[in-house]
Amino acid sequence: MAYVKHWVNDEKLNETEKDKLKFDGLEIFKEIPLYAEGGFDSIPKEKWAMFKWAGLYLQKPKEDGYFMMRVCVPSGILDYDQAVTLAGIARDYGRGIFDVTTRQAVQFHWLRIEEIPDILNRLEQVGLSTAGACGDITRNIMGNPLAGIDPHELIDTRPIVKEVFEYFQFNQDFSNLPRKYKMSISANIHNAAHAEINCVSFVPATKEIDGEEVTGFHVKVGGGLSARPYLAEKLNVFIRPEQVKEVAVALTTIFRDFGYRAKRTRARLKFLMADWGPEKFREKLLEYTGPLPEAGIDQVQKWNAGYFYGVHPQKQEGTKYIGLNVPVGRLSADEVFELARISKEYGKGEIRNCNSQNIIIPHIPDEKVEDLLKEKVFERISTQPENFLGYAVSCTGIEYCNLALTETKERMRVLAEYLDREVTVDAPVRIHMTGCPNSCGQRQIADLGLQGIKMKSKEKNALVEAFEIYVGGTLDGGGKFNEKLKGKIDAEYLPEVVKALLLDFKERKQQGESFYDF
Ligand code: SF4
Repeated sequence: MAYVKHWVNDEKLNETEKDKLKFDGLEIFKEIPLYAEGGFDSIPKEKWAMFKWAGLYLQKPKEDGYFMMRVCVPSGILDYDQAVTLAGIARDYGRGIFDVTTRQAVQFHWLRIEEIPDILNRLEQVGLSTAGACGDITRNIMGNPLAGIDPHELIDTRPIVKEVFEYFQFNQDFSNLPRKYKMSISANIHNAAHAEINCVSFVPATKEIDGEEVTGFHVKVGGGLSARPYLAEKLNVFIRPEQVKEVAVALTTIFRDFGYRAKRTRARLKFLMADWGPEKFREKLLEYTGPLPEAGIDQVQKWNAGYFYGVHPQKQEGTKYIGLNVPVGRLSADEVFELARISKEYGKGEIRNCNSQNIIIPHIPDEKVEDLLKEKVFERISTQPENFLGYAVSCTGIEYCNLALTETKERMRVLAEYLDREVTVDAPVRIHMTGCPNSCGQRQIADLGLQGIKMKSKEKNALVEAFEIYVGGTLDGGGKFNEKLKGKIDAEYLPEVVKALLLDFKERKQQGESFYDF
């Protein structure tokens, strides 16, 4: 039975909300074949925004008709056929570019509307989807990229993520949320899925119930970044693994029905949590789920920021996983083909995306590790990256993004390589660069966050690309966002300024101390 859209007659609805009432975003999938036949000019301008529900954004400049496509990869886990299919799409249609995102998804660029039906068909053949990869809907579900092989997980979360992801896929009861909506589900004790910056996140916990130690989850609600970042807050409930889907559906229903729809800038779930607080949120949740036990013992011990470099034992004896650096998250199609081939030849063909924009190749028998590491592709996609390039994260930036104020990807790579030559540090420094106040590059949780802006040139006769600098972000101990340093830096001088900042930090810090500690 369809739900009642109680907000239909609300006079305060913003313009996007009014459009969403006229046209459900997921309906765009039905129209794509028609537009593919008619060409880009056959798409009415008012429909452009609806392509987001199919994971499609128009690149900059929109009038040129090139699309960026985001593909959901729940928990970041790809099997061989999926990896090869994605590499083929990048090669055949996307000018060879394959980007790993900070939510474990994959992004392509340069796609034409005429090509989209074939791309969607190829994805469907291997069980992949773009539905909900963008838009006001449940996005890709983040998880533990080591799920099922992780010596540091309490539960194999793969079946739970699959169940929740599939429930929300193409589900028109939940395709009109007030704004984008991000979930994570992980039982890794090192907070591999960045719980505090998700709208809803399930984190590992234990509780004694009727004399029995039960392993399950706590749930954190109301996290999110962008211009007004919030850290998610824990609700006082304990959730058994088999209840995760029910709780996820209840929380999403609450967001759908009580989230704000008057102003886009206040529509994320974090604003509802900020107004209600965790206790009212818990009471509302229980109205949907019935009684849940109170919270037990948190099992998250620290935050690894999504990094897994090197060779590590899996929980399956005699088997290793290999953590690899993808500089600023960008691979070529040829590299993905090669990584898939290697993964299949030495292991089971899987590739796993991390939210640090890096990858993991799992299931390598101990005796094959040495030979695998001699493969040429690992000269660039390294197991032991440098302290800056290995921990550099970047959003898409002005190359393709309509909201960007500055170039980011290439600039971040060049900056990190420069710092690796110029500055020696005894602990990695996580630098995140974004091209605007939005936070696809998760600037707020970086040791050093670089946020793109425009400023007047020295001669005051033009606008130039510039950056604000933020220091000291972390998700350790519940999290803390980085803080802005005074002033802004012309992009031309950014490398020297960041170098000077790091040298000063290095001189004054203790051995192994991070920006957060400092
Ligand atoms: Fe675009 Fe801004 Fe997101 Fe970067 S952070 S991809 S510039 S919207």
